[in-house]
Amino acid sequence: GKRAFVAGVADDNGYGWAIAKSLAAAGAEILVGTWVPALNIFESSLRRGKFDESRILPDGSLMEITKVYPMDAIYDSPEDVPEDVKTNKRYAGSTNWTVQEVVESVKKDFGSIDILVHSLANGPEVTKPLLETSRYGYLAAVSASSYSYVSLLKHFIPIMNPGGATISLTYIASERIIPGYGGGMSSAKAALESDTRVLAFEAGRKHQIRVNTISAGPLRSRAAKAIGF
Ligand code: NAD
Repeated sequence: GKRAFVAGVADDNGYGWAIAKSLAAAGAEILVGTWVPALNIFESSLRRGKFDESRILPDGSLMEITKVYPMDAIYDSPEDVPEDVKTNKRYAGSTNWTVQEVVESVKKDFGSIDILVHSLANGPEVTKPLLETSRYGYLAAVSASSYSYVSLLKHFIPIMNPGGATISLTYIASERIIPGYGGGMSSAKAALESDTRVLAFEAGRKHQIRVNTISAGPLRSRAAKAIGF
């Protein structure tokens, strides 16, 4: 069977959860990467059975998540983590959550993966029009929503089996004006789409790994509700 790592699952309402279910239904083993500040509530909800109904697969069995890895995809390695984040009590309780460390842990636990799903985005100023977006907000959107895919690929490819596949989720606001999708998120999705072409060329040639992105329709996930969609 195939092993999949789905980055960006913290509840049962988003695309990451739905993709994990489809992969599980197709027989894949599921590992997930959960944003550190959301880890406790996600793990305790899983444990308490809050997601049991959402875990039901077409054959009636429940999706098993083999392991949940804490992750923050805006940090590549421990040296990148600022002191205030390191000591923040939501982060201090977990370890090995930078991209490099997550991949090292997956390698240690399982050796390799076949499928990588990037289902995460963040734009701290998403509710502001682009014209009112700060440099900080813009760069933060690109860091969390676009470079995070480059970083995940860079670190995961060495432990991906040839013929493996990766995918991210983009949004039509990259090519058309969608008022309300601000803070540089439209820019971040445009970068993600362009990067997908370049990364597909590079990873395909060098490593026989596929790189794709799907432009998803509107879904009332936690992220979408936060911007009033
Ligand atoms: P979601 O809230 O379920 O997923 C986003 C996840 O990203 C959350 O679990 C959040 O904890 C995580 N995250 C945020 N910052 C992170 C970081 N620094 N490191 C690790 N994880 C981090 O919402 P969703 O709408 O399912 O989003 C998944 C993907 O789908 C995103 O790329 C989003 O842009 C895309 N998308 C969503 C819609 C929609 O309408 N919901 C439409 C098109 C594309």
